[in-house]
Amino acid sequence: MAVLTDFHCHTDISPDGRASLYEMAMAEYAAGVRYLCITNHCDTVHWRTLAFSPLCRTVALRQRQELEAVRERLPADLHLGLGLELAELIFHPELTEELSGDPALDFVLGSHHITREFGDYHELDYHDPDFCRRMWDVYLENLQWVADKDYFDVMAHIGYVRRYAMAQGVDTALTLAEHGQRVERILRTIIRNGKGIELNCSGLRDGCGPFPSEEILLLYRSLGGETVTLGSDAHRTEDAAKCLALGQEILKKCGFSSVAVFTGRKADFLPI
Ligand SMILES: [Zn+2]
Ligand SMILES: [Zn+2]
Repeated sequence: MAVLTDFHCHTDISPDGRASLYEMAMAEYAAGVRYLCITNHCDTVHWRTLAFSPLCRTVALRQRQELEAVRERLPADLHLGLGLELAELIFHPELTEELSGDPALDFVLGSHHITREFGDYHELDYHDPDFCRRMWDVYLENLQWVADKDYFDVMAHIGYVRRYAMAQGVDTALTLAEHGQRVERILRTIIRNGKGIELNCSGLRDGCGPFPSEEILLLYRSLGGETVTLGSDAHRTEDAAKCLALGQEILKKCGFSSVAVFTGRKADFLPI
């Protein structure tokens, strides 16, 4: 079996994280992960009030200190990097660029969770199909803003909003039939700028499918996209490395022969 890689994982430095860096790293290692990157939330605004969140300035430093404190106790063959899930670019674009410039970072996920129009996606009511159509338009507009910037390495969990709709019993997804043009434009921008996307496996745990979906992965591949990281998006040790092997299978099925890992913001490719 190919070695497992996890480039999206949280510790309790994230407000919704439940495990220390040491606990998470050991759980990932026990599950077979040998290339791991901690990517704590680095949000420029508070998810509910949308007010500036000063804590974003300290995330990279705090996780660095936490790693230094336990480094000697970690297995020697665990490649452990430090990254950020850097989100909410639209509210503070200059600050986002500044935070991503920390020279100690190995990897930056470009993420989008909160809109100016509606706030955080997990707070919305998805029962009205007209609203869902509009919501996906707004979502893609925001992803395009991220794609146009240089601050990130890999765009996170394209289409993940489906999770919150599914939790309300509403089956809505980002499909090429409805949104193909905008999705293609985003993917072309990412490829042209030398960035990548992640295959976020968290939706595989709860029946929502991978983020992005296989049809979007296939489109990305057909457009010449090669850089894909795998991420469990674990927030607790129980989810560490969950569905990463399945993610590798999905990648292979979609025509990829390698998975990307990053050190010092530079990509390397491991065969799958
Ligand atoms: Zn996220
Ligand atoms: Zn995450």
